[in-house]
Amino acid sequence: MRYISTRGQAPALNFEDVLLAGLASDGGLYVPENLPRFTVEEIASWAGLPYHELAFRVMRPFVAGSIADADFKAILEDTYGAFAHGAVAPLRQLDGNEWVLELFHGPTLAFKDFALQLLGRLLDHVLTKRGERVVIMGATSGDTGSAAIEGCRRCENVDIFILHPHQRVSEVQRRQMTTILGENIHNIAIEGNFDDCQEMVKASFADQGFLKGTRLVAVNSINWARIMAQIVYYFHAAIQLGAPHRSVAFSVPTGNFGDIFAGYLARNMGLPVNQLIVATNRNDILHRFMSGNRYDKDTLHPTLSPSMDIMVSSNFERLLFDLHGRNGAAVAALLDTFKTTGKLAVEDDRWTEARRLFDSLAVDDEATCRTIAEVYGQCGELLDPHTAIGVRAARECRRSLAIPMVILGTAHPVKFPEAVEKAGVAQAPALPAHLADLFQRPERCTVLANDLKAVQGFVGQHGNRGKPL
Ligand SMILES: *Cc1c(COP(=O)(O)O)cnc(C)c1O
Repeated sequence: MRYISTRGQAPALNFEDVLLAGLASDGGLYVPENLPRFTVEEIASWAGLPYHELAFRVMRPFVAGSIADADFKAILEDTYGAFAHGAVAPLRQLDGNEWVLELFHGPTLAFKDFALQLLGRLLDHVLTKRGERVVIMGATSGDTGSAAIEGCRRCENVDIFILHPHQRVSEVQRRQMTTILGENIHNIAIEGNFDDCQEMVKASFADQGFLKGTRLVAVNSINWARIMAQIVYYFHAAIQLGAPHRSVAFSVPTGNFGDIFAGYLARNMGLPVNQLIVATNRNDILHRFMSGNRYDKDTLHPTLSPSMDIMVSSNFERLLFDLHGRNGAAVAALLDTFKTTGKLAVEDDRWTEARRLFDSLAVDDEATCRTIAEVYGQCGELLDPHTAIGVRAARECRRSLAIPMVILGTAHPVKFPEAVEKAGVAQAPALPAHLADLFQRPERCTVLANDLKAVQGFVGQHGNRGKPL
């Protein structure tokens, strides 16, 4: 499989190089040159497969030519074997024809484990083969950091540095990062906010002199391998509910448009998906586009669903590429405009096409809490605030009651106790068994000033399994 850039100017790469690449050299994002398409017979033959076997069949075309079948199978079995539920992604019924796909049985209790557990293993496999080491740098306001650290903790060839804003992440989220001890794991608390952290990571990618030639890899949601891994659970859920002979609808809590873009790809690969709902919180740039063709940058509103608090959606560019007939120059022009004006609109027929593909809703904190209470009252299920946003959007936007509606359950409610408490329905649930002693575990973390040179100096001193690069 070859991958091309959404801005049309960077060279095409194979899977292995895309895995290590991050942004394309023209500033674009990589997408597959041709999407595989499965037949009805093929999809039907996958009914009843264990998750890792299904994952192999869905993702095999994307890694073809880079990763041998036997290696890929072993990696997938190991990846999804690490989840705390035998079904990996169980479906739980809320109402007549309404289901939550529980994507929070991985090590850090959020759906990002599906992609980052795999990404860490894929990186290590490829780097061992090449005899290379890399440094990963990422900024987090919570979920991504812990999932990335968990995904890389056993990697021989990776040192990972995760920046979080000092004293501005929840205690559960901080401990999920800082209690992973390993000579290749480096937590840095920055005396600043999340944007400061992100800016320092961006600046480090732009000027890599401090790395003395070691390659820097990104694990944020623009990494193609993360999108790829998320396609699988759409197939997994739909097949259990009767696909390919019956179609299914999905409602997806989204911020960076990563998770729902995977659902869009699943549909293009032959899965009968009747409806895809973009569910946002008050940071609703995606809903403003879908409902009014206005992709305008707004200020950041902190909400009870912090993992979706974004101002722009980094993966939206991948959709723009398809909406413009895969014309990289058109995408580059739009994003140039967006960069200078903070605004973007597409031509009418392209917007009509986007409306045909997606429905959308923005859900505020009040409605989020109301939905947690509503669902708890109806069936005793306690939702996390992100999942609750998906349920609200599903209930408001649903087109057909005859078609099963699947809401992606993106996090375990224990991660976001504030919303559960505000909803006033129940005590926040207890931590699951594998994290029960989280508050007793020793932590390791370095606090640094909000200073790029200090951070880069630290990476240079510790980037080789704790030793200087
Ligand atoms: C990251 C995250 C999301 C949003 O995912 P996108 O890829 O931005 O769509 C939703 N819910 C939770 C719990 C998350 O951690």
